[in-house]
Amino acid sequence: MDKLPHALRIVVDQLARLPGLGPKSALRIALTLLNQPEETTRTLGRSILELRDSLSLCRLCGSISETDPCQICSDPGRSEEQLCLVADWDALLTIDEAGFYSGKYLVLGGLLSPLDGMQSEQLATDLLQERLASGQIREIILALGTTRDSEATESYISNLIRRTNPEIRITRLAQGIPVGSELKYMDRETLKQSLNFRQQL
Ligand SMILES: [Zn+2]
Repeated sequence: MDKLPHALRIVVDQLARLPGLGPKSALRIALTLLNQPEETTRTLGRSILELRDSLSLCRLCGSISETDPCQICSDPGRSEEQLCLVADWDALLTIDEAGFYSGKYLVLGGLLSPLDGMQSEQLATDLLQERLASGQIREIILALGTTRDSEATESYISNLIRRTNPEIRITRLAQGIPVGSELKYMDRETLKQSLNFRQQL
């Protein structure tokens, strides 16, 4: 890669940082971009910039949104009494697009994972504390999946809630889900069943 022209090497280095891309595929993408009509490449560049400028994180739930608070948090038709905790925004989308849950959400920003260096300080527990302090929540639904990391996160989060708000009901999605599965890949029907038959912790 040392012989690449400077401008090309910068793009290749940046692309190679993306998940699933090594230096070779990064170079292939960079060359494809270079071979496209100039306007196509410029449009892509501009859209990436606008992505950062026009989107932000909702201050209430931590989801990616064009408005703050996001559409879901500012929807008066949604119950304030149920709060569904998800690991990431993809999982929120999966549940919400299925269209049967009418409470609110909170995005934790990941799962505890000592091996990947994901510590409790990196989870959005500050957002959770703020939501608990509102006094409106009666049930927290943990929708974190069934991997080892999600179980560790479940017990950490439920202990945290019990310490400050023992009156809140804590539930998790029913375990019809195959072990090790990630919530964002679940189909609508399985998801609906696991919410209907959720278990009390
Ligand atoms: Zn929100």
